[in-house]
Amino acid sequence: IQMIFQDPYASLNPRERVIDIITAPMLLHKIVGSKEEATARGIEIFRKVGIREEQVSRFPHQFSGGQRQRVGIARALAVNPIFIVADEPVSALDVSIQAQILNLLMDLQSEFHFSYLFIAHDLAVVRHISDEIGVMYLGKIVEQGTKHHIFENPRHPYTQALLASTPKITGDNLERSKPLMGEIPSSVDLPSGCFFNERCPYRKPVCIKVMPEEKEIEPGHRVSCHLYQV
Ligand code: SF4
Repeated sequence: IQMIFQDPYASLNPRERVIDIITAPMLLHKIVGSKEEATARGIEIFRKVGIREEQVSRFPHQFSGGQRQRVGIARALAVNPIFIVADEPVSALDVSIQAQILNLLMDLQSEFHFSYLFIAHDLAVVRHISDEIGVMYLGKIVEQGTKHHIFENPRHPYTQALLASTPKITGDNLERSKPLMGEIPSSVDLPSGCFFNERCPYRKPVCIKVMPEEKEIEPGHRVSCHLYQV
């Protein structure tokens, strides 16, 4: 299991050349037999993520934000992971660079066949990259299903509000939905019952007392909400 961090400006050791950043885990995990083999493999991985051989002796500060994130991705690939946790890997980057990195992540997945747990707030990014989606509110997954389930048939009131909050352009008009009322409760002083109850337009008396259980409302589509009885 490997990790790609959110902030490429803070997640690379500024005192190490990027070739050393990528070869250290290979040597530590004995994926290669020698420093020379690690360097050759490191250069090959860098090539796959778009870093040229003549750049691999540079320090992190000599790269742009998008290139640094490529180094972070290369570091994750260095030990042949089967699973990569990508924590908001594009949110610190310019929009023009985000698409490049997302496409790179998807190309690498096709080539190396690992899985991602991809954490994001940007729904367009989620839609672009995901197969299965879990929607989280205050640390709890409230709805889980395929991309089709979540984007075409959202069932939890929070998911519905989240999707409705994206502005839509129709003709000459920019449509804005009504925002959710209320504030997100403190995570150290959680509401009783359903965590969403103080902001939910469908709240019932039971919602204030009882945390809803997860229910499978159709194959592969699970929701935690008292509106659904299965
Ligand atoms: Fe709304 Fe009740 Fe469902 Fe929570 S359990 S989302 S308060 S209807």
